[in-house]
Amino acid sequence: MERRDIRDLEFEDLRRELESWGEPGYRAGQVFAWLYRRGARAFEEMSDLGRPLREALDRKFVLKGFEELSRQRGGDGAEKFLLRLEDGRLIETVLIPAPGRATVCVSTQVGCRFGCVFCASGMSGFTRNLTAGEIVGQILHVRQAIGRPVTHVVFMGMGEPLDNWENTARAVRTLNAPSGLGIAARRILISTCGLIPGLPKLAALGLQVELAVSLHAASNALRDRLVPINRKHPLDKLVPALRDYRKETGRLVTLEYVLIKGVNDSPAEAGRLGALARRVGAKVNIIPCSPVEGLKFEPVSRPEAVAFLRRVEARGVRVSLRRSKGGEIRAACGQLAGRAP
Ligand code: SAH
Repeated sequence: MERRDIRDLEFEDLRRELESWGEPGYRAGQVFAWLYRRGARAFEEMSDLGRPLREALDRKFVLKGFEELSRQRGGDGAEKFLLRLEDGRLIETVLIPAPGRATVCVSTQVGCRFGCVFCASGMSGFTRNLTAGEIVGQILHVRQAIGRPVTHVVFMGMGEPLDNWENTARAVRTLNAPSGLGIAARRILISTCGLIPGLPKLAALGLQVELAVSLHAASNALRDRLVPINRKHPLDKLVPALRDYRKETGRLVTLEYVLIKGVNDSPAEAGRLGALARRVGAKVNIIPCSPVEGLKFEPVSRPEAVAFLRRVEARGVRVSLRRSKGGEIRAACGQLAGRAP
């Protein structure tokens, strides 16, 4: 039987498992402290557990690691980690540092099924879901690499978190749990291309995590082309689903809008975006389009982006214009493809 990665287990799962072995419940807390506070790489490091228990853990579980194939640093401080999973698949994880914070952008899948036309992650299709352990493992890996705590986590790397919901939910709970990494829910952001069935599940998680939706167009005709999942989950269904999410959770939603020259940057689209955001009660985040090899999409100039922003704002919506980091090391939004440099 293949041994399971112990990081796939949430605290309660492990407590039950250990109790079924006749161990006291507090052992789970000791194991979790080794895994998440101290970042142990092997059961034998867990020196306050007796040898028989360490051996039993080792028979039943593994502690999967990554092989770091490369670590690149850009002039803006962003760092991209190319990691090889135990089955040889490659993923990328990005560190975005800022004064007093360290944000990690994690991948949730190898590849992506959704094929947004301007994004590198879906260009070679979908390979597999990451396990919860592989998702949490990315944060542990980066923390170990930088030698300081990770303060924020964004699920904005390769893949679609709501398409790998069970593992994403497990990972979020372990990131958030005081027995795990203890990262406040409000410092965890889940981004989705708009998988409507995932929204009630996210609401039911009952944690104050942030939600971002990759909108990129405010009319079905355009969104059908840019974000193909819109044909299945169109805006007229997505908007009410987001309103429900807001009602259910009381949380503000962010709409992400990658501005692409000559594609979705018209004044009319800006007006529609503003109106849509207002209906949802969402704020809007405008992101310059990052170049992706083999694709001809271009960003707009800064003044054009500001003009677009003003038009959205005119509808009474909160808008921010983000500078994407990591461009020179191909670590920016939409550039993660899990390929060797
Ligand atoms: N699948 C999820 C998580 C990925 S988040 C989602 O779609 O939200 C990655 C973000 O980068 C998404 O908002 C995506 O639309 C955006 N993106 C993709 N390609 C981009 C590009 N070329 N330039 C800028 N942003 C891009």
